[in-house]
Amino acid sequence: MKFKLLNWGFIFIYLMKLFRGHFNSYHIAVNSKLDKLNKSQWEDTKQLTKRRVELLRVLLAGAKQTAYYKQLFENTDVDAFEICDLKGVPILEKALLKENFSRLVNSSINEEELIVCSSGGSTGKPVKVLQSKNSKYMSAALKRRHFIWAGFDTGDIHIKLWGAPTDTKSALSGFKNIFRNYLGNIKWINAFSLSDNDMKKLYMYMLKNKDSIVLESYSNILFSFAQYIHRNNLAPIKVKSVISSAGTLYQYQRELIINTIGSNVYNRYGCREVGDIAQQCSEGKGLHINEERFIIEVINKNDEGVGDILVTDLISHAFPIIRYRIGDLGKLSNSVCKCGRKMTCFEFISGRDTDVLICPNGNRVSGNIFPHLFKDHEEIIEGQVVQQAIDMLDINIVTTKNLKLESELLLQIEKAVGSDVSIRIQYVKSIETTPTGKYKPVISNVM
Ligand SMILES: [Zn+2]
Repeated sequence: MKFKLLNWGFIFIYLMKLFRGHFNSYHIAVNSKLDKLNKSQWEDTKQLTKRRVELLRVLLAGAKQTAYYKQLFENTDVDAFEICDLKGVPILEKALLKENFSRLVNSSINEEELIVCSSGGSTGKPVKVLQSKNSKYMSAALKRRHFIWAGFDTGDIHIKLWGAPTDTKSALSGFKNIFRNYLGNIKWINAFSLSDNDMKKLYMYMLKNKDSIVLESYSNILFSFAQYIHRNNLAPIKVKSVISSAGTLYQYQRELIINTIGSNVYNRYGCREVGDIAQQCSEGKGLHINEERFIIEVINKNDEGVGDILVTDLISHAFPIIRYRIGDLGKLSNSVCKCGRKMTCFEFISGRDTDVLICPNGNRVSGNIFPHLFKDHEEIIEGQVVQQAIDMLDINIVTTKNLKLESELLLQIEKAVGSDVSIRIQYVKSIETTPTGKYKPVISNVM
């Protein structure tokens, strides 16, 4: 009798897993959007542009319902703005967004129905925006689409090596969330306190279940796990796929992750304010912009085409995000991806603008060079550069032993920042991350 009851229990749970998308209103809404996104990703540029023009018109009309844009657009014909040319709309800086928070709420929408989304912010001072349920469903659908790109199937194990307190707290509290994780085969593992022993356990588990595992984590945590496997001469796991998020994924990190953990790495780029903006397909080249939802501009470009990223969220009617300077640098690609999707790609995305050092000689040094310098020293597990003053740099290093070539590293850094900067190497136990768990290779306290 007991045996039979147990069997019925398993059958019930199996059916719940299989059909949960058909009974739960959240999943119904997300799946409906996902169906549309799965079709629109193959549309040609003309069809996609037509859809985006319609969305832009609705967004600008909605923006006029806010006190902030009503004033800005008082003497402007918003219908004249084009999808590829929004230059007439002032840039929404983070400071402006904070100052005008209540003036950015669409007065025709019931504010109580909106969801507050806060970015952790590198300085710990979050930027807060409001989102409608529609935006929330769209964010979830875009995320699911990316999981499909990464080969995720129903029944696969989704390991979420995560640490952002806001996410883990809500995901692991309450019966509903725990049951949802169970049904979705989601295993949360705290990435903030991962000892060698934890990594060993994770490695063994993943090796055993490798064919059905999709691992999602921060780029720096994935790299750290890959270093652990490499350092201990462990056999490559080759899980189904790896999804990298929250932070720049450097080519050398990608290569080590592929060689040790996964068959392929699917990078994605986004922020708390608007969700996932772009993601990588199986071709592994650029990151496709989710153009069904966003207009992306790159302005103030340097000679290589790298400039400030501006984001317009085409469905942010409740709280318009138009030409929002997100604080990252990027470069748009001119070529079409081999996968057949016509959405424009980012060729390159770099960290926040505080990752640029302004030196006494007036040079601006991109933070991207430092991880490359660190990787040439095999003892370095992780490194971080903190500019304490315009002429003072701290190099924090987590290492297995003191550097053989410390003087060489100092010389390399001096070459980049100039001889009038005092450089101090500090051996530390760990590198501090931002409140949302992002690793920053360079922090400037001079900006
Ligand atoms: Zn592609």
